[in-house]
Amino acid sequence: MCTRCVTADTVLGSVRLVIVQPMDRVDPTHHTRVHVVQSRQTRPNAATDVAQACPFCVGGLESPEPYDVRWFSNRWPALPEDRCEVLLYSAQHDASLATLPTDAIRRLIDLWVERTRHHAARSDVSTILIFENRGADVGATISHPHGQLYAFDHVPQRSRQRLRWEPPTQPELLVDHSSEWSTAVAFASEYPVALEIWPTTAVGDLPSSSTEQLEDLARVLRRTMSALDAMYQQPLPYMMWINQRDFSNTDMTVHMNIEIVSPWRATGLMRYIAAAEVSTGEFFNPVVPEELAATLRDLFMRFD
Ligand SMILES: [Zn+2]
Repeated sequence: MCTRCVTADTVLGSVRLVIVQPMDRVDPTHHTRVHVVQSRQTRPNAATDVAQACPFCVGGLESPEPYDVRWFSNRWPALPEDRCEVLLYSAQHDASLATLPTDAIRRLIDLWVERTRHHAARSDVSTILIFENRGADVGATISHPHGQLYAFDHVPQRSRQRLRWEPPTQPELLVDHSSEWSTAVAFASEYPVALEIWPTTAVGDLPSSSTEQLEDLARVLRRTMSALDAMYQQPLPYMMWINQRDFSNTDMTVHMNIEIVSPWRATGLMRYIAAAEVSTGEFFNPVVPEELAATLRDLFMRFD
């Protein structure tokens, strides 16, 4: 084992954890950063989790007391030094961003703001990534509505590219527009479903957002997820994340944005990224973004 690694055993209830500091590596050819995190091999997976009580329901392992929203440190952190958190959206096991009331989503957004502010105050944090994996098709191991936070000590490559992101201008890609936020289909995503959401008045991070922006974001997220779930007449598996500024400097000119992508190209039908794409870094998307935008524009009109 690498001399940088530290092992420690902890007994928590019936769960025995082996915490191993990750090894960071950079591929010598492709310059891709890989965090080798052996401890994550011991986390529950969907197949075995089914038979166990939900740890996020009230009374469960992670949520002994009633709550509206809740955060806690990830027991199987991908990064060391308290950089990985789990963020619970609701105590209701079958809730989602499409079904939660707007005021409940607003409380979640306040939690995002509070946890972002907490990690932004650290001197060893640059990127604060808030994200959600929803559904077994994108690897979610627990179906209870939740997201996560990773506080990186650097700006990952793609996150650095997103610092230079600018809103799309093609009207045929626009899906939704309010006084505070706009939503469009991505111009050239490798995923068949890919949305970008951004504040109409540019702001670099959640804590810098106005009360009006945060209020409206709750409504925008509910409306967006309702339309996405309606598209295939069943809950859409998706990955969502928020691109915020680099908190290690004072550059506030970054335009914060939210991305939502799904691997589904039709109802229940996965689009797998395969050899020709993995090998070349070029992608073959079967969904025409402008047609997806037209479909979603119609669906968005069904929801407040
Ligand atoms: Zn639950």
